[in-house]
Amino acid sequence: MKVPLLDLGVQLEPLRDEIVAAVTKVIDSTTYIQGPEVIALEEEVAEYCGVASAVGVSSGTDALLVSLMALGIGAGDRVLTTPYSFFATMGVVLRLGAEPVFADIDPVSYNIDPVKMAEALEQDHGRTIKAIIPVHLYGQCAAMKQINEIAKKYNVPVIEDAAQAIGAEYPDGNGAWQRSGALGLAGCFSFFPSKNLGGVGDGGMVVSNDKAFAEKVRMLRNHGAHPKYYHAEVGGNFRLDPIQATVLRIKLKHLESWHAGRRENANTYNTLFAGTSLPGGGKVKIPYAAYEEYASGNETDKNFHIYNQYIIEVTERDKLIEHLHNNNIGCEIYYPLCLHQQKCLDGNVTSPSMPNAEHAANVTLALPIYSELTIEMQEYVVQQIDSFYQM
Ligand SMILES: *Cc1c(COP(=O)(O)O)cnc(C)c1O
Repeated sequence: MKVPLLDLGVQLEPLRDEIVAAVTKVIDSTTYIQGPEVIALEEEVAEYCGVASAVGVSSGTDALLVSLMALGIGAGDRVLTTPYSFFATMGVVLRLGAEPVFADIDPVSYNIDPVKMAEALEQDHGRTIKAIIPVHLYGQCAAMKQINEIAKKYNVPVIEDAAQAIGAEYPDGNGAWQRSGALGLAGCFSFFPSKNLGGVGDGGMVVSNDKAFAEKVRMLRNHGAHPKYYHAEVGGNFRLDPIQATVLRIKLKHLESWHAGRRENANTYNTLFAGTSLPGGGKVKIPYAAYEEYASGNETDKNFHIYNQYIIEVTERDKLIEHLHNNNIGCEIYYPLCLHQQKCLDGNVTSPSMPNAEHAANVTLALPIYSELTIEMQEYVVQQIDSFYQM
């Protein structure tokens, strides 16, 4: 049996005719930059997220970059974030000439630890930390209640890196839930094909409940022009293509069922792993869904986790990966090297050690979790992991 890490073909198949027709329509319209499809997608994503405004941009990376630009982040400023994320989270800070500061992660959720975050802000005597970027890693929201409380105390804006977490919901503890992107000043989404909502190329979006902030992003994504050809600010070309927008509008209608499918698959893995008494006598640790308990009763329709990735912790990781690849099972390490350890920082960032992030980088492994995965495929994956530890 072959189990790829992700199979976009099976997702495309039932939608292919509709998508091809929609793309053809955009091509025939000869409106290739922005236009009605982009505006419609912005409105639909804003409604889906429960926010006032949405601005389509060229990628998740550019969503983060233009958000920091809208805050006026630049040389001499510092941005507080997690050391355990995709490079773009830190890359945008460096590209603006600002300096990243890191707070270690919570070892269970893999998201930034609010206590460590508070420590970093407390030690920032020059008050040079001008923004905080929590990442909702793997599709589960960071501890936004605590993060927002600390951010408010120090009066620092919070930009959510929700690239892996569109639609992920966060419980307020009193029965109400809010979607990612509605939890901070702004939220940044990526439509990279491997995200839960992926285009046929690059794309992204900034959402916000702060209309003035959103309008500033809207201006900056188009060279800062306002009106056309008049530039009080320097922006860039961060526009979203209508071809991407039209595809994303079709896919958005299925997003909730895909989230539910991934959650169901996560449940299946959890049960299968439990049935093996955890392969190798506890050598595999299954992921923890921090907010699942708040969703009891309606687990299928609450996005307490959208499982962009299903992450296990393993021992003998390199050998296990080789074994899985030899048996046609896709798997991947997200991410093998922490941000504070990246060579491009060239020793320019003085960061204390981040033991939780460094440990996670050494032991985590992503298994196939896409919603079209069959039970047989999941059984095969767990069986192969089990047999590896029996060897
Ligand atoms: C994918 C991703 C990004 C970047 O999105 P792109 O659309 O690829 O530019 C940023 N942050 C995180 C956490 C991501 O997973």
